[in-house]
Amino acid sequence: MKYPLTVGAMMEHAEKFFPKKEVISQTHDKLHRLTYKEVGKRTRRLMSALDKLGIEQGDKVGTLAWNTHRHLEIYFAAPGIGSILHTINIRLSPEHIIYIINHAEDKIIFVDKDILPLVDKLHPHLPTVKAYVVMTDKEELPENSLPNVYSYEELLQEGDETYPFTRDIDEDSAAGMCYTSATTGKPKGVLYTHRAIALHSYALGLADTAAISESDVAMAVVPQFHVNAWGMPFACTWFGSTQVMPGPRFTPKRLATFIEEYKVTISAGVPTIWLGLLKELDENSYDTSSLRGVLCGGSAAPLSMVRAFEQKYNIPFFHAYGATETTPLATYSRLKSYQQDLSPDERANEKTRQGILVPGLEMKVIDENGEIPWDDETMGELLLKGPWIADTYYKDERSKTAFIDGWYHTGDVVTVDEEGTMKIVDRTGDLIKSGGEWISSVELENAIMAHEAVFEASVVAIPDEKWDERPIACVVLHDQYKDKVAKSDIAEYLKPQFAKFWLPDDYLFVDEIPKTSVGKFLKRELRKQVLEHLNLA
Ligand code: ADP
Repeated sequence: MKYPLTVGAMMEHAEKFFPKKEVISQTHDKLHRLTYKEVGKRTRRLMSALDKLGIEQGDKVGTLAWNTHRHLEIYFAAPGIGSILHTINIRLSPEHIIYIINHAEDKIIFVDKDILPLVDKLHPHLPTVKAYVVMTDKEELPENSLPNVYSYEELLQEGDETYPFTRDIDEDSAAGMCYTSATTGKPKGVLYTHRAIALHSYALGLADTAAISESDVAMAVVPQFHVNAWGMPFACTWFGSTQVMPGPRFTPKRLATFIEEYKVTISAGVPTIWLGLLKELDENSYDTSSLRGVLCGGSAAPLSMVRAFEQKYNIPFFHAYGATETTPLATYSRLKSYQQDLSPDERANEKTRQGILVPGLEMKVIDENGEIPWDDETMGELLLKGPWIADTYYKDERSKTAFIDGWYHTGDVVTVDEEGTMKIVDRTGDLIKSGGEWISSVELENAIMAHEAVFEASVVAIPDEKWDERPIACVVLHDQYKDKVAKSDIAEYLKPQFAKFWLPDDYLFVDEIPKTSVGKFLKRELRKQVLEHLNLA
């Protein structure tokens, strides 16, 4: 049959077949425990409320919110009536948030209580927004100067819990949208179709990827505004997993406590999150034995992190790769059946690679001469195509440079071994060109971070008259090693691991590496700081 895949149908499935399974959600004031039966009814109430507020098919429904059950309900209610879920990164600058809301032409904005003061300031610049919904009870609605403002729970109370999910939707129409922060210029928008989200959810359920299933207690730490929490809320709902949602301004302590208390089986986040969790596990004791996997993506996971999880805490670690443009799951690292006998260090090493392509997608790696050989050495740019890969940016001229001849050009430089296992070497702009040869900043960073004294490290290029560019390492030491470790200690440690020309020209001890809104090293800013420090700016 030609049968449309729709996001609303995924929630209907959960209501029918997993009515007793739970969503455990921390909001600003308390912990909520709701069954999928309840979440389904609330989603229907919300759809009827959106309908009453005049939201139509194709309209954008913006959210500025943390990971909670309410945010989950909007995930299904907006596409459930044929409108488009538009999750907005709350950590972007006010200018970028204004740009994004205006560019998407959001009709309504859902906002968490603690983000309301920001929205209050922005609203004079948001002419397309006709209503605001604060995700609280009516009594809790804080003072504000917004026009047409509603409380979430009041809207739901007045809603209709039998309101139907619209099935008459073209599966190729947009169900969601996210903006990715461009390294230069304005953020770029990507639309996700119903079909893309459904197929991507299946991909998350495959035994050889994240294997999300009914038996999981899944905690997405990656924010719901970061590529839809990597699609976990969709897949977990469809497959009936218990979901644990850590809510506003969570701490590593909350994450560790939730893992122990709710027996979380799988959790997903960026390396910065896991660095924080590892520190907490080092300082206090928790039972993490329920975890069958920690899923890490967004930037490269250092070897020291893989080792800490696998060898110190006996928690299986999985590295995945993707981007806003890829919904995001594109590759997943899992040892093959015949690699199970590898030594612990070989396993950890293997797991720092980003893995193999998820079934359903196609990849190609090219340099200026065409496709590169899969020899684990030659570097090239990764190109992707497939049913959940975007084919354009939303109303954006920059599409021309990223989507060419049916391929998405990722801007990621990779090597591939003969079995297709991919390793990200760098972003195209972050590779360091020294004396005509390429140096991978990521490999240097990972090696430095493997030193026991190092908390985190980032490597950037500075201009050099003779060599064109040279690497400089910025290093944050663990508190107990501050003033005890010298530059020469780190330099000596790296020496046997790399060709001489790869070794950084200098090591700068810093208090912090600047990070992007989703916790990645902000190399642009770091490079600026380094140049200023070295009086090269
Ligand atoms: P942004 O560009 O705003 O950071 P994304 O979250 O879409 O937005 O980032 C996608 C990029 O993140 C990828 O193109 C890649 O450079 C990087 N990335 C994602 N996952 C990994 C990973 N596992 N290892 C290394 N880099 C990764």
